[in-house]
This record gives sequence, C-alpha cells and structure tokens, in this order.
Amino acid sequence: MLAARTVAFQRGKCLTYIGTSAKLTVLKKDPEFAFLNDVSCVPLQQTLRRLQTAFVNFFAKRSAYPAFKKNKTRDSAEYTRSAFRFNRASQRLTLAKLGVLHLRISRRVEIDPTTVTVTRHPSGRYYVSIVLEVATPPTKRVKTGQSIGIDFGITRVATLSNSETIPNPRHLLQRTALLVRAQRRLARTEKGSNRRRRQTCRVARLHEKIADARRDSLHKLSTSLVQQFDCIYLEDLHLRGLVQNHNLARSLSDASIGRAIRMIEAKAEAAGVSVVKIDRWCPSSKQCTACGHVLDALPLSVRRWTCPRCHGEHDRDVNAAKNILAVGQTVTARGGGIRAVRTSVRNASRQRNVNHTRKKHAISS
Ligand SMILES: [Zn+2]
Repeated sequence: MLAARTVAFQRGKCLTYIGTSAKLTVLKKDPEFAFLNDVSCVPLQQTLRRLQTAFVNFFAKRSAYPAFKKNKTRDSAEYTRSAFRFNRASQRLTLAKLGVLHLRISRRVEIDPTTVTVTRHPSGRYYVSIVLEVATPPTKRVKTGQSIGIDFGITRVATLSNSETIPNPRHLLQRTALLVRAQRRLARTEKGSNRRRRQTCRVARLHEKIADARRDSLHKLSTSLVQQFDCIYLEDLHLRGLVQNHNLARSLSDASIGRAIRMIEAKAEAAGVSVVKIDRWCPSSKQCTACGHVLDALPLSVRRWTCPRCHGEHDRDVNAAKNILAVGQTVTARGGGIRAVRTSVRNASRQRNVNHTRKKHAISS
C-alpha cells in the first residue's frame, strides 16, 4: 500500500485511506494474495490507518516520508473492539479468526479492553498488550521532606548520595557473559544456514531476558525513589555521550540510564515529586565533598580515593552523588539557573506518552 501511495504521490495524485481500503478488497480476490483472507480484516485495516497517520504527519511536515520497514524486529497485529472478545470472568481472550488464546496473564483485567495488540518478538515469544481506559486515581503520597542525588553507573545501576548502592542484578551479569559467547558463536555460523537461524533466535532470547531483568530492576528502583524522596537530583545524560567507549556493557548501561531517568520522571510527575537534572559541568567525581578540593585527574579505574587535603576517604560514586545533590540544592535555592535543567516541556509531553503506554498491561504467552 505504501508503494501504491508512493506511485500515486509521484504522479501528483492522492491515494487516501479509503482508496487503499478499496485496493485491499480487490487484492483479497487475487489468488496470489489469498493469505489476506486467513486473518481478520481488522488488523489489516488498522495497518492502513497507521499508514494514513504516517502520511498525515508527513503532509503536516511533522515527519519524514513514510519508509518501508526493512528490518522490523517486532511484528504486530492490532485488534479493535469488533475483532476480539474478552471474558472477564474466565479472563479468556478470543480473537477473530484465531479463536481462544492460551495466555499467561500478568494481572487480572477487570475492565473491558478497548484495543488488543499481539506482538511477536525476535525470540519467537508472543505478547498481548491490552489497552484499558482508566481514570487516574489522585495521588495519596505523603511528603517525606527528603532529597537525594543519584549517580548512574556501569558497575552499579545507581549510587545514592546517602551512600546506598543499587548493584546490577547478578543474573544480569551472568547473562551478559552468555550473550557475548552466544554472539561469537553466531558470527561463526554460515549465512542462511539452519544453525544460524537457531542461533539468532537464541541470541534474541538472551537479549530479551537481559532487557527484562534490567527493566524489572529499574522499575523497582524508580518506584522506591519516588516513594522515599520529595526532590530527586540527577545528572543530565547528554554529556555522558562525550565519553566514546563503545563496549557492550557501556551501551547497555547508557540505554538503561536514559530509561531509568524517563521512568523516574514519569513516576515523579504522577506523584508530585520534583526532578532536577544537573548539567555535568562540575567535576563531580573529582571534587572532595568534605573540603571542596578538586583532584587534577581521577581515572575511571579508581573506585576509592583519599583526599590529599582533608584525608577523607571517598567512594568514587557516592562522592559524585553527594556533589550532584549539593549542586542541585544550590541551584534550586537560587531559583534555578543555566546550570540546572528542570524537566522541560518536551519531557513533559514524553511523560504523558509514558503514562499512556503504562496503561497497557503486558500479557505474555
Ligand atoms: Zn577533602
């Protein structure tokens, strides 16, 4: 349909959603496209609608010209109300032309879903996401009067200014080692072979397990932070990008730091907790929190150091987290400044998106 719309576009004509819909009806009668009749018409129509949205966004100059998804990692099918039935008593989901699905449900669904999306991941696992319309309950959070500075890292997920450390889960570290080995094995297989196909699936499954473990620990971390503290100070991620060191652990860690920040921001907004991002202009790792002495250099390999002036012992990350808290509090007290970036308008809209997607319950099968 994208090809058809592109041809029409190049000829100065416009093929609209209705046009593509009519084309689909014709295609279904073509023996070559008989498979289109094997599935419910709803996901097909939804795909056409998405294409329409992509074109509307393109004409409104909000996005680039719609492109073919060559290396799409996830396949999905979206079912609207007319194409599924959900029995709340038995928690059974029936999809048009597919029948009853065997599901493992993450939590009970007590409201009638509006949309159901089936997703297939590269590992071969299928997920069903359900959209429910729920009124957001008012927050009942009691103010704690506590503030915290956070330093994100590679060896630990995060270090807090109160010396608390959140280590990487052990199983995650083990799986990272497994992943390196599995990827090496994949590289040795021949292209197009059955072995390669199987190994690709294994690598994908490991990637998913690692992502699951990380997401779980980040959810636990962000929830506990928002419950405990009224004000959270973080380092701004952008400057971290200047460190050019592209190994597996590094990139995994950077991706999850960004995710952790988004989770914290979204949960903080819902709970009325403030999040302040600190521009990393200050030598937060190199400055002594006790006397303010700044070291000339502090290699990444040094985890602990002693201040030459006050002889105070410092854990590298705890010291950095304390500095983040101190800088954050100074800047907030001055009524904000160029060096602290408060959650921007752009972030606020992203948070709304996060809140929206959080309404989806993931149900795995
Ligand atoms: Zn010192």
